[in-house]
Amino acid sequence: MQGKDLLQLAEKFGSPLYVYDAEKIQSQYTRLTKAFSKVDNLRINYAMKALSNIAILQLLKEMGSGLDTVSIQEVLLGLHAGYAPEKIFFTPNGVSLEEIEEVSEMGVQINIDNLSILEQFGAKHPNVPVCIRINPHVMAGGNANISVGHIDSKFGISVHQLPHLVRIVENTKMNIVGIHMHTGSDILDIEVFLYAAEILFDAAKNFKNLEFLDFGSGFKVPYRKDDIETNIEELGKKLSKRFNAFCAEYGKELTLIFEPGKFLVSEAGFFLAKVNVVKQTTSTVFAGVDSGFNHLIRPMLYGSQHYIENISNPKGKERFYSVVGYICETDTFATNRRISEIKEGDILSFRNAGAYCFSMSSNYNSRYKPAEVLWWKGEGHLIRAHEKFEDLLQNQIPLPVEAVV
Ligand SMILES: *Cc1c(COP(=O)(O)O)cnc(C)c1O
Repeated sequence: MQGKDLLQLAEKFGSPLYVYDAEKIQSQYTRLTKAFSKVDNLRINYAMKALSNIAILQLLKEMGSGLDTVSIQEVLLGLHAGYAPEKIFFTPNGVSLEEIEEVSEMGVQINIDNLSILEQFGAKHPNVPVCIRINPHVMAGGNANISVGHIDSKFGISVHQLPHLVRIVENTKMNIVGIHMHTGSDILDIEVFLYAAEILFDAAKNFKNLEFLDFGSGFKVPYRKDDIETNIEELGKKLSKRFNAFCAEYGKELTLIFEPGKFLVSEAGFFLAKVNVVKQTTSTVFAGVDSGFNHLIRPMLYGSQHYIENISNPKGKERFYSVVGYICETDTFATNRRISEIKEGDILSFRNAGAYCFSMSSNYNSRYKPAEVLWWKGEGHLIRAHEKFEDLLQNQIPLPVEAVV
């Protein structure tokens, strides 16, 4: 997919627009499975909170992927997209016992991340196979908001509470089939990941009926050319070897699971927005686009730096711009960026717009959410229509007229 394809899609479907390259999603999936080809039983569960359009779910299902879900609504979407319940994992944080029970009854693998719920669930349903989320307290993660391994993190059962955990399992006689960790996003250092894996292996020795070990995700993807990224191939080589050795020691061929979100879909996504206004102030040139943090919140939320190109004028002379949105509060996509000369009406393309972009969008300022297009076999397929005025009114209930006057 090239810049001119994106430009045509913006013309055809209007802006703002999300575009996803199916081939890129598929090649990332294949890359991950190849890196771990030495592991006999490998399973990839796509963390669908990154991008939950059902066409994307279908695409990954065709590749053989399972799903990692964090809410009962994601489970329902996964089932709707055609996933068998046994291909779905439920890895929530801080949800109610009732929600966990309801998902478990659907035949979905549940993953419990605190001792209180574990004890209650184990007492009521000792025969249901359960996975436990361990927090190894290994610091990984590029941003405080997405780092989940630290000591005061709300995620997982602390590895320091293992004795208490084992006691609960013995008392309830519950069936622990898996151990899980997810150290957070943006793993740069493979040694850190391997160190966390050792903690998981150690914890695993406490349980006799394991079927799988789930190493979560958090792979760092590049945001521009020559950017750093997790070396998946090296991680594959080292972790596969260690995993196979552990299985031999444990006396059983376990399944190795990953649950990537960003790695599979981030780079496949492009967000296209039109420049409404070029505004020269005394200090800066602003390019104001027909979108804002209602559609792409990551720069404001995480300080993420999405690479921005002017696809209407790719060869133009570069100048410095601050790219801003139309939301009526500070709404900055990028400051002081070199972008080829921008004119009003040009289309800007934001890279790495596949993960946590549309899925975090809202109707703030009563704007419509953008449409989504899948670039598949050389053609753009609309996979979500632009919203309409009726969508804003849906579910709203006005007061009776006589009560208002
Ligand atoms: C969000 C999440 C993931 C995916 O993380 P990425 O950084 O997008 O790969 C995996 N597992 C769990 C439990 C998550 O909450």
